[in-house]
Amino acid sequence: MRIDVLTLFPEMFEGVFGASILGKAKAKGIVSLEAVNFRDYANNKHNTVDDYPYGGGGGMVLKPDPVFAAVEDLQNEADSKPRVILMCPQGETFTQQKAEELSKEKHLVLICGHYEGYDERIREHLVTDELSIGDYVLTGGEIPAMTVIDSVVRLLPGVLGNETSAITDSYSTGLLEHPHYTRPPEFRGWSVPDILVSGHHANIEAWRREQSLLRTLERRPDLLQTAELTAKEKKWLASLPKQSKTEQQ
Ligand code: SAM
Repeated sequence: MRIDVLTLFPEMFEGVFGASILGKAKAKGIVSLEAVNFRDYANNKHNTVDDYPYGGGGGMVLKPDPVFAAVEDLQNEADSKPRVILMCPQGETFTQQKAEELSKEKHLVLICGHYEGYDERIREHLVTDELSIGDYVLTGGEIPAMTVIDSVVRLLPGVLGNETSAITDSYSTGLLEHPHYTRPPEFRGWSVPDILVSGHHANIEAWRREQSLLRTLERRPDLLQTAELTAKEKKWLASLPKQSKTEQQ
């Protein structure tokens, strides 16, 4: 996979692209990650990429020409039709399902804003997707772009080892993940549930599934509407008293 990020601050990506799972995925050749400064595509004396809004008002607006030129250059260079994603708080809320969808693409281009707004023609005639990482406003699209890239790259085959498989992660299964414990078996008087040290794999799996259902019921009951549940699980969840949860764990 190839991912290009259009930004005015490529230096912000140096640490993120070079470290941990993303750094390893890049080193293994599974993904190519590039931060491209779209100021290099400004076709004017002072390299400006923003201008005053028509109609007046505060804040500057990102001009269309450098963004179109940068995307078209990347398209030609890669000879591909990438998904062109505008990072913006007005976009579709980013989810694990969207990460899974994007992880199947060959080429992504993410555009990071840094001003009051984008010239609307960028939205209308250049991008294929608009993504928001949540209902709040950041200074720029760089941190949102890093969030999207990290969650997409960790899904690519060969990026995570078995020990950190993404398959059982929260949201991948449609539910929240079950609780985890490690050594010591007793810490400050709090012990690990007996079943986890029983060595009985089938019972452990059943306990984990049950905990995952309980945790989802407690924290994100909305997810249960769309999660894949057996008839027995639906019946069991329906039988639980409304305020139960923690006592049942
Ligand atoms: N005036 C804009 C509005 O109300 O929609 C907000 C502009 S914001 C200060 C500057 C840039 O930060 C945006 O263009 C976008 O790239 C990025 N950004 C801010 N919040 C974001 C979010 N929740 N998700 C994705 N990108 C965001």
